[in-house]
Amino acid sequence: MSDVVTFSWGADEASWSIVIHGGAGAVPMEARARHVEGCKLAAIAGAAILRGGGSALDAAQRAVELLEDDPVFNAGTGAALNTSGEIELDAALMDGSLRAGAVCALPPFVSPIKIARAVLDEGVHVLYAAAGAEAFAKEHGFVRTTTEAMTSAAARAQFVTMKQSGKGSEGWAGGTVGAVARDSSGHVAAATSTGGTFMKQPGRVGDAPLLGAGTYADDEAGACSNTGHGESVMKLCMSKTAIEWLRQDMHPEDAARAAVAVLARRANGSGGIILVDRRGRLGLARTTDTMSFAAMSNQHAEPICGS
Ligand code: ASP
Repeated sequence: MSDVVTFSWGADEASWSIVIHGGAGAVPMEARARHVEGCKLAAIAGAAILRGGGSALDAAQRAVELLEDDPVFNAGTGAALNTSGEIELDAALMDGSLRAGAVCALPPFVSPIKIARAVLDEGVHVLYAAAGAEAFAKEHGFVRTTTEAMTSAAARAQFVTMKQSGKGSEGWAGGTVGAVARDSSGHVAAATSTGGTFMKQPGRVGDAPLLGAGTYADDEAGACSNTGHGESVMKLCMSKTAIEWLRQDMHPEDAARAAVAVLARRANGSGGIILVDRRGRLGLARTTDTMSFAAMSNQHAEPICGS
């Protein structure tokens, strides 16, 4: 694990802003530019919605949809495989009025975040799991696909290597995706989507779809998406913890740094976090070697990117 790394983009309050992450992990040097490029395109797409007066919810969802479709990320197509060689997907979407939708242990569907949005829009339940999530998705017009169709060559190769080594999952793919945004009406939203950890046990659910753990949004404070070792993140309710710091007016950069520091100190976990507060200020931190990201606001003509 590296030290806590944070980024500063030299902008403070913004009428609209968005920041994307492409997962905490250890992406090899030669693949980093590709991960950053994916985040950049997602940030541009989200920013276009926000610039046109669209909602933070639509912007965060759209950004994550693009990343789910990009096979380099561990979300949607390209998701990590579990010990049975199957894909089980987790995703959540929440807006600052406390509307939320999530799915977990979802069998192969190309865009879990769209299904999470249908859950949010229906407004009856918040989280559907496994067969229940599949039934919900089908009832709402989504079509199940196959693990084969959604598995990237890299995910398959990782699975084969780990099976041969006989090792369980200790790390993760470095490609969970998330977005947080604030729109010009002052609303915030958060979205997170993942295939979870490589070689997870069937039925294992991570932090991403759990409100307050991997994903949270509250217009009175801000919005948060986490990535990293899900078992550690959920024990600390890391998103809600960081959001409470924003509520007390801590700068998102400080809250992000503090959140990953607590993750390391209390749970011996590593990961990363992105934050936007109710004033549009952004924060981001990681303890891992890499976390690709891209950010834009009404004060930036071009995305600010890195890993
Ligand atoms: N947090 C995710 C999980 O544990 C993995 C990740 O962020 O890479 O499912």
